[in-house]
Amino acid sequence: MIKLSNRLAGCEESVTLAITAKARSLKAEGKDIIGFGAGEPDFDTPDNIKEAAIKAINSGQTKYTAVGGINELKDAIVNKFKKDNNLSYGRDEILVSCGGKHSIFNLFQAILNPGDEVIIPAPFWVSYPVMVMLGGGKPKIVRTSEKAGFKMSPDAFSAAITQNTKAVVINSPSNPTGAAYNEAELRELSKIALEKGLLIISDEIYEKLTYDGFHSSSIASISDEVKQNTVVLNGVSKTYSMTGWRIGYAAGPKEIIKAMTNIQSQSTSNPASISQWAAVEAISGSQETLVTMTKEFEKRRNAMVDGLNAIEGVSCIRPQCAFYVFANVSKSLGKRFNEMTIKGSADMANYLLDIAGVAVVPGEPFGDDSFIRLSYATSMKNILNGVERIKKAIGELK
Ligand SMILES: *Cc1c(COP(=O)(O)O)cnc(C)c1O
Repeated sequence: MIKLSNRLAGCEESVTLAITAKARSLKAEGKDIIGFGAGEPDFDTPDNIKEAAIKAINSGQTKYTAVGGINELKDAIVNKFKKDNNLSYGRDEILVSCGGKHSIFNLFQAILNPGDEVIIPAPFWVSYPVMVMLGGGKPKIVRTSEKAGFKMSPDAFSAAITQNTKAVVINSPSNPTGAAYNEAELRELSKIALEKGLLIISDEIYEKLTYDGFHSSSIASISDEVKQNTVVLNGVSKTYSMTGWRIGYAAGPKEIIKAMTNIQSQSTSNPASISQWAAVEAISGSQETLVTMTKEFEKRRNAMVDGLNAIEGVSCIRPQCAFYVFANVSKSLGKRFNEMTIKGSADMANYLLDIAGVAVVPGEPFGDDSFIRLSYATSMKNILNGVERIKKAIGELK
């Protein structure tokens, strides 16, 4: 047997994908499974975007492109930042990658040296700590509480900083909690980051999936100085139901973007040419389907939040963004079903899948074992049915 790289410590299959796979195979066996595990919108990619891709194929846009993306897409992204965030970037401050995830991976590879620490508020997107470790750095997890809306306080942030701290990850709006910082909170955090000379890594992939009239701001737009010390990450996957197309992007200081582009040039090269043309249309074309989608998500969120809060032993706050509910199941932990004790969130997820036929994601890999993540990127009918099933299953715990 070949000995694998030591860098792989902590690099396991993403649990979110694993539970989706288990639910899928149960479904394939003919079991009636309702999936709340999805990390992607259930809507089809809008027609105008598909047509742009078909046009790209038919007009021969099928060869290598510039490593960091075609100029047309970079320009669309530059315009988006100007229009949505009042941020001015040049083409050389933008990198287009094979999904937002790829941009983030490149970023950690580009900035980290052994021993460098990256502050990650928990609950966090499962990939951040692993990507930091693959870059040779050390994740430094800062717990937040449900009571504080899952947001990191300035004090907790300051307390986590050491002389080895290199960067902080701000994922607003957040996966898995749907929480978002307001402008005043972003200002506070950015002040600390600037004082300590930290790079701010701002993952804004859920920027446009907001409800109740909430507007999500980019931390980079706080001031020019903050912008100089921030790399913004975004992409088309979530906003335009384009998870399979693999287009994400980063915007930030030229030197960092250049280093990330070099890494990309020696690894994947350019993201798919056809997807890039589709993304040009997604970002600069009609935004009508986005409006329809967010209206529908808002209704579903309400149904899911109300349904879950009506269950004895389950509670959740009403998130204003993304398409997830992070539900507190601590009151149901330690209870039993026959011989089985539900000890943590993974037991709970397995129990709900086996007994209720409902797939949820355990909170443990997101950094909090008292919670489960439910995605409402599924039909209203599934939400109502699934919540009813959860209620029955939780009711059977003793
Ligand atoms: C989905 C997601 C991404 C990136 O998704 P891509 O499909 O790679 O663009 C990045 N950050 C968070 C928090 C996500 O949930």
